[in-house]
Amino acid sequence: MTDQTALIPNPVAQAADRTNARKVFIKTYGCQMNVYDSVRMGDALASEGYVTTDTAEDADLVLLNTCHIREKAADKVYSALGRLRDMKKERNAEGRELMIGVTGCVAQAEGEEILRRSSAVDVVIGPQTYHRLPQALKRARQGERVVDTDYAVEDKFEHLPVPDKKVIRSRGVTSFLTVQEGCDKFCTFCVVPYTRGSEVSRPLAQILDEANKLVDAGVREITLLGQNVNAWHGTGLDGSSWGLGDLLYRLAEIPGLARLRYTTSHPRDMDDRLIEAHRDLRALMPYLHLPVQAGSDRVLKAMNRRHTAEEYVRLIERIRAARPDIALSGDFIVGFPGETDAEFEDTLKLVETVRYAQSFSFKYSTRPGTPGAELGSQVAEEVKAERLERLQALLLKQQLEFAESCVGKVIDILLEKPGRMPEQLIGRSPWLQSVNVDAKSSQIGDIISVRIVGTGPNSLFAERIER
Ligand code: SAM
Ligand code: SF4
Repeated sequence: MTDQTALIPNPVAQAADRTNARKVFIKTYGCQMNVYDSVRMGDALASEGYVTTDTAEDADLVLLNTCHIREKAADKVYSALGRLRDMKKERNAEGRELMIGVTGCVAQAEGEEILRRSSAVDVVIGPQTYHRLPQALKRARQGERVVDTDYAVEDKFEHLPVPDKKVIRSRGVTSFLTVQEGCDKFCTFCVVPYTRGSEVSRPLAQILDEANKLVDAGVREITLLGQNVNAWHGTGLDGSSWGLGDLLYRLAEIPGLARLRYTTSHPRDMDDRLIEAHRDLRALMPYLHLPVQAGSDRVLKAMNRRHTAEEYVRLIERIRAARPDIALSGDFIVGFPGETDAEFEDTLKLVETVRYAQSFSFKYSTRPGTPGAELGSQVAEEVKAERLERLQALLLKQQLEFAESCVGKVIDILLEKPGRMPEQLIGRSPWLQSVNVDAKSSQIGDIISVRIVGTGPNSLFAERIER
């Protein structure tokens, strides 16, 4: 799972025009799973009469839905809380309310500590208990400072209200759908198994029900989410054991659902059925985010990734044989404790071999409580910075080459939202690139054929063609 929120519009900012309603502003940090959770928190609060707004200034309740994956991500939360504390003081001086909540992975990891560090915070709610937000807010309004970070025995998804069609459609023609949460892989650098708990798959019937409701409301593309999404498993319609591949075959049968994606996967869980799904399903987009993290086998072992560089490269070859037009995306960490110059070079070599269309790369960040934090031989900050610069230069070159290779191609794009110019829309290519094209807003949700005519820094330009 990757920080991709820049690609995603504020998911919960729908017009807050019910004048007397309480307003909530939800600030989302981190990965797509947090984006999805923010939407569902908005749903939970809507049933209590809240409407969403897209500024803290306008809100009666501010929720920071946080990320703990790297130190910087967690630090951002405390700076935001400093600003909110001042805002709350000003509000209270005017006799008005401002409630503040911290949700997500920092809430789970730090719990009570957040109340100690920030006097302005009223509620702290973990990722597994946000369906209880309305009750927590009631208690907070009675003067209690609430921390609810237990792993709930009840299934939060069973308790979250489903919004009506109009609300779903107002969020756009693409949607996330969480199918799996938590992780049992315990990579030695990663906090996810501690903040999100152990691996849990949502039952098939629940997923199909949610997918059908989304499509019924006009959603054309669904991205299945999970910290380890391809570890999803469940009991199939025929009573047998199903994996993510089987789930995708079933979802592809939903009339009106044009496109499917899934993220984030672990190389160890890319089984044959999932690769066959890439071969067989036109609805399954030819794009795969498959993090490798590093190219040295010693580092991969120290990271507890449970695969070698060679195994990863062979896996990519099998996937490409099944779906030749597939584009690859990856996550990389530089400067894991003990990583030598030569081991870093192995990462560059792996990138040269695989060729990525998209990527997310990070300096190793020590996370308290993870085995990586206990290792000696931490790599110096300036060495990490220099390695990251070199890796990112290579990855950017590959990304631009991939974009250039699209020029002249005729492809289908899903029209998603208005562009910057009048009569211009932004569509999404099969490979997740933004594509600017002249089209009318009434066409949002249509899939049209275009010819790619140019590339920009973060998007492609296209002209329409009639097929
Ligand atoms: N489950 C996914 C996987 O197996 O790769 C990734 C989940 S994680 C939320 C997203 C990415 O953050 C990881 O792939 C990794 O590259 C990065 N990341 C996680 N922990 C990190 C750390 N301590 N320092 C730097 N980057 C980290
Ligand atoms: Fe973190 Fe590894 Fe699990 Fe991904 S597979 S969430 S990197 S522990």
